[in-house]
Amino acid sequence: MLSTWRAMKLWKRVFIGLALGIIVGLGLHYGLGADRGAEIATKYFKPFGDAFVNLIKMLIVPLIVTTLVSGVIAMGDPKRIGSLGARTIGLYLLTTFFAVWLGIIVAAIVQPGSGMSDLIQSSAGASDTVADKLRNAGAAKKSLSEYLLAIIPTNPVAAAAKGDVLALIFFSILLGIGILLTGEKGKPVGDFFESAAEVVMKITMMIMELAPYGVLALMAWVMGVNGLAILGSMGKLALALYLACFLQIILIYGGLIVKVILKLPAKRFFFGIADALGVAYSTSSSSATLPVTISCAEHNLGVDKSVAGSVLPMGATINMDGTAIYLGIVCLFAAQAFGLDVTMGTYFMIALSATMASVGAAGIPSASLFLAVGLLQGVFGLDEAQAVLIIAFIFPFDRLLDMMRTVTNVSGDVAVASTVAKWEGQLDEEVFKAVSVH
Ligand code: ASP
Repeated sequence: MLSTWRAMKLWKRVFIGLALGIIVGLGLHYGLGADRGAEIATKYFKPFGDAFVNLIKMLIVPLIVTTLVSGVIAMGDPKRIGSLGARTIGLYLLTTFFAVWLGIIVAAIVQPGSGMSDLIQSSAGASDTVADKLRNAGAAKKSLSEYLLAIIPTNPVAAAAKGDVLALIFFSILLGIGILLTGEKGKPVGDFFESAAEVVMKITMMIMELAPYGVLALMAWVMGVNGLAILGSMGKLALALYLACFLQIILIYGGLIVKVILKLPAKRFFFGIADALGVAYSTSSSSATLPVTISCAEHNLGVDKSVAGSVLPMGATINMDGTAIYLGIVCLFAAQAFGLDVTMGTYFMIALSATMASVGAAGIPSASLFLAVGLLQGVFGLDEAQAVLIIAFIFPFDRLLDMMRTVTNVSGDVAVASTVAKWEGQLDEEVFKAVSVH
């Protein structure tokens, strides 16, 4: 029994963990009653889930630094960084463009907000919590120039301690270039990073063996606390988001990118990233999923580490297609609920602001929920109280939506990484097509 379990591919075990977690959580919620179920789920399951998330988060900084430095060294020529960077950013923007319009079109058809205005008014009680959280989030708001300046760390060690991914990417690329340009004398430092990258990757694989249990604990906690009420009156909003995300994943990533551009089998792509998707769904955080995403791209899809180690960390911070879809849908949801006018100009405003906000959103749970308040104010000129009312209504159910947008965010990152790898001649197609997904 145990040996059959151990012999099973990891992604299958992760999905079994996910399904069992949902069953256990719902069992607690309905078997023991909502309050008692939530208490048990929080007391006994959440700590295990948190422990798993902490274990993978622990690897983010060492993984980014070591894979990126050894990746730059593997490129062998600093000039390649420019073309890689331009291709990456171009593709990230292109996929986000599709995402945001897909979200808008689906929301215009499904009409998640129509007839919701009374229900929304009734969420007024929850708006204090949201307004509080918003005030805290507002303190962290940065202007564009501050945002760009923060990419240059004045102290790389402090940037590592803060988990400031873009700053770390910047420093690691420079470090790699420095090692390359130093030549013979820089070689020992380069060898050190190459070996360290192997070691950190090995630790990632060890921790991933715990993923089925971590995912089970996280899902049991989410479902134990929320029960099926998480679907509640949000049915149509959830439907619109899940539908648009599925379309983005299947048509844009599986179809356009993998089949048409890469000319590779879409099925392999999805099997190859299944572990990362399971972890993304249960943690709701692209950043926390990053080590798993890198490992899947390298081992299952044959993306060279010079590409996986640079394109994916950047994607986890700036490329969020699921988030862009979500923000577009929330804007239309508000417009439909409040009966606001939506002209062609408004659609363009929504598309532009949702794209920018998705770039600025952090890869952590519920990051974009609070950004949506600013968006509603900016696009429709709602006052803060009205915008908060909408978000307060979505707030209790946001986890369910967050899980799906994180899955989309992560899939988009890997689709782009695979394409950049192919264009750079760094994609091992034999590995991509191979059946053996570990
Ligand atoms: N949770 C999402 C992520 O980590 C961000 C969001 O809130 O949209 O990718």
